[in-house]
Amino acid sequence: MALAQRGLSPAQSTLELTWWGTAGFRVAGPSGVFLIDPFLSRNPSARPILDLKPGQVREADQIFISHGQFDHLLDVPAIAGQTRARVYCDATPAQTLIREGLPASGITRVEEGRGVLDLGWYRAKARPSRHVRFDLPLVLKTLIRVNRRFFSLLPLARDYPAGRVLSWRFETGGLVLRHFGSAGSGSEELADLAEEKIDVLLLPLQGHSRICRIALEYVRILKPGLVIPHHWDDFYPPLSQLVDIRPFLEAIRGAAAEVEVKVPRIGRPFRI
Ligand SMILES: [Zn+2]
Repeated sequence: MALAQRGLSPAQSTLELTWWGTAGFRVAGPSGVFLIDPFLSRNPSARPILDLKPGQVREADQIFISHGQFDHLLDVPAIAGQTRARVYCDATPAQTLIREGLPASGITRVEEGRGVLDLGWYRAKARPSRHVRFDLPLVLKTLIRVNRRFFSLLPLARDYPAGRVLSWRFETGGLVLRHFGSAGSGSEELADLAEEKIDVLLLPLQGHSRICRIALEYVRILKPGLVIPHHWDDFYPPLSQLVDIRPFLEAIRGAAAEVEVKVPRIGRPFRI
């Protein structure tokens, strides 16, 4: 692990990350735990298999949401209810959470780009981002897969509107993490972000038939120390599909060999 190259001593690298599938992460630090987009209600056909249900999550101080779609928000009322974690999100997912029974007093609506949240052992800041635009080949493939189940799956899309998409930045002990819940950033957003130091980029590979090429653009422009590809799993078949990320990994080796890559194994904690 090339933390030293990024000016960090091993003593500073005390973060433990666990990928929970989709864009979901558990981040454990020196004095607490926060979650990003936790979604554990995968259906029985989901791959890879994750042996963790929402009711088993007992520890979380904060939950950060990138956007309001079901695969980012559905389990948040249950998890926030049992852990008493405060939820930070945009106004649209906040409305959904309140409809689903979470008290408004436990939710902080984030005003985009305004202010840094000081949470003791780390700081968090949201900035506006965008959802990837599903392209026609992907939509057609999905419709063929879903077929007659279309109408039974429709409420999941209808009842969980995305709202404004947020990208989160977390900083602790000199280490900067940048999380995207969807890879729809325009060139302006990426150019803006290129000014910042990003040690760890949590990058979603889902939602477009050319997602590997899109993801490579993020890496080339943002030049993170380490990239962690996520959301490539088949989290809710037949709505989702397993994304082959090998072209992305090969392209990094060719075009951005200095960038380290960590392909996470679902449910397995790792240190950064
Ligand atoms: Zn998603």
